[in-house]
Amino acid sequence: MRPPIEILLSEEMIRARIAQLAEEIAPRLREDVLLVTLMNGAFVFGADLTRALARLGKSLTLDFMVLSSYGSGTVTSGRITTRMDLSIDPTGRQVLLVDDILDSGNTLLMASNHLRDKGAAEVLTCVLLDKPARRRVPMQADFIGFEIPNLFVVGFGIDYDQMFRELPFVGHLRAS
Ligand code: 5GP
Ligand code: MG
Repeated sequence: MRPPIEILLSEEMIRARIAQLAEEIAPRLREDVLLVTLMNGAFVFGADLTRALARLGKSLTLDFMVLSSYGSGTVTSGRITTRMDLSIDPTGRQVLLVDDILDSGNTLLMASNHLRDKGAAEVLTCVLLDKPARRRVPMQADFIGFEIPNLFVVGFGIDYDQMFRELPFVGHLRAS
């Protein structure tokens, strides 16, 4: 049985915020920016942000990375590996790294270090959701969609054991 979901961020709120985020980000982007979306959770946000930036006249090169943190369910372990690396060489390029949620900070820190190790000239980071109360490592995103409390959220690409990615809003799992 699927547990009940309570809407936290509606479709309309997310759509409006992504358009604003693109306005904030666009002036910081160089001509040859490489937008890297972390799969799978950020695929919906990455797609919407890409098109919002394109509407502002930005041309982007797109790439994707799959990271995995061990374990399923609502607890992450802090051990993160690269399951699928970039297919484009980021050497000398500005990278806009896009993720769904900034939680402990391990994922975004590891991914941005990885991009710098591969030669990226600059790594800007953007997350849809930030849970500052949960930070375990010193990591801040350059651009944040929404700051949220310490709730386990799903929807808009974000799953709970592969469920709920398809929801067009962000909701949280109510303890049932
Ligand atoms: P961090 O490495 O910052 O602790 O965690 C980031 C990753 O943990 C996110 O990209 C996301 O995949 C997962 N995560 C963090 N909080 C949540 C949450 O509330 N719901 C879900 N489904 N995943 C989360
Ligand atoms: Mg993720």
